[in-house]
Amino acid sequence: MKKIAVLGSTGSIGIQTLEILRRNPDLQAVALAADSNVERMEEQIREFRPRVVAMWRQEAAHDLRVRVADLDVRILSGMEGLLEIAQLPESQVLVTAIVGMIGIGPTIAAIRAGKDIALANKETLVTAGHIIMPLAREQGVSILPVDSEHSAIFQSLRGEPEEDRERKIEKILLTASGGPFRGRTKGELVNIQVEDALKHPNWAMGRKITVDSSTLVNKGLELMEARWLFGVGTDKIQVVVHPQSIVHSAVQFEDGSIIAQLGVPDMRLPIQYALTYPHRRPMAGRRVDLFELGSLTFERPDTDTFPGLGLAYQASKTGGTMPTVYNAANERAVELFLDGKIGYLQIADLIGEAMESHEVIADPKVEEILDTEVWAYEFINGKVQDHALPRRLRS
Ligand code: NDP
Repeated sequence: MKKIAVLGSTGSIGIQTLEILRRNPDLQAVALAADSNVERMEEQIREFRPRVVAMWRQEAAHDLRVRVADLDVRILSGMEGLLEIAQLPESQVLVTAIVGMIGIGPTIAAIRAGKDIALANKETLVTAGHIIMPLAREQGVSILPVDSEHSAIFQSLRGEPEEDRERKIEKILLTASGGPFRGRTKGELVNIQVEDALKHPNWAMGRKITVDSSTLVNKGLELMEARWLFGVGTDKIQVVVHPQSIVHSAVQFEDGSIIAQLGVPDMRLPIQYALTYPHRRPMAGRRVDLFELGSLTFERPDTDTFPGLGLAYQASKTGGTMPTVYNAANERAVELFLDGKIGYLQIADLIGEAMESHEVIADPKVEEILDTEVWAYEFINGKVQDHALPRRLRS
């Protein structure tokens, strides 16, 4: 029996994680956490019977306690609750499926407590990869990627000895669908509305990441995630637009061989692989039919129309606190876009402005990363005259 704790169990990745657990009775949910969705959490508690649950918001935790008073489950709240779940003695794996840099603290706590991490929360590696990866090595825990592209790279690297990997990898070919606006010019994106940005051609995901996919900022975050996960320089990561989303990413080795992982776009596959690694298990569902597909196509990304990708390369090469600025400025700008307060093209403009105004701290500690997050939020708020605080600072 493998015991699993899930942070963000009520979200898109969290729900699919529980679907994998439902089909694999030897994978057991011992703890769950979410922000405020008490209805869904109540359903999950009644079905999966975790021992401990945390709701970020106190009112939600209070409401949930009343709802499940008939059951033997402890309901916690706030950061204390997330940290307790991350370190729960009986769990072996922590699935980090929450959105944002709030994931950093619990991920570090779980690694220190010797838990393997099934990592969906890319913001953690983007902003604190220089802390997380060495710590994981020191503690001998595995960071198992849940993101489909990183799972593909991870699978493509299987069997290659760890040592000298940086030299043996000539390139990581990080694929991108190109999003709903592929092939459009910048001028055609001026009037993009929220509903347009939320229509992803191939993947069904949470709102924030769907907008990020349309701006290619998600690919920018993924390139920084890949850099830390696989220990390669930013210049070795090539983004390849592949509209069919069948090749989930590939590795080109020093002998010129390219090894890729292919499959239908379905997050349950990488989630299951992370939870059952090193074993594969059966999974029912659609299959790639190469005859039906006929052809797979590949294009260079259009960084003029989608400047968010170029900014990611810049942030990654600069390092230090710059990836945090990139991530946090984007997070705030996307919230403002979803609230109808800024236009679509302003998202990348605001990220660029925040990066230009930021004084980089090299090799930042966690507190400096979190302070930089607040700085970036305030910078964006100042630009658009709004004063909301980052999510982790809200009660
Ligand atoms: P969703 O928005 O669908 O879900 C987010 C989850 O996190 C919800 O359960 C939410 O709870 C919870 N949450 C948010 N804030 C807090 C908090 N402060 N404390 C505790 N729980 C919190 O996001 P996704 O599932 O789409 O994405 C999760 C992560 O996975 C992101 O980092 C994303 O980039 C990454 N990812 C997602 C993919 C996808 O296909 N969706 C693919 C690859 C990576 P509540 O429901 O109560 O709000």
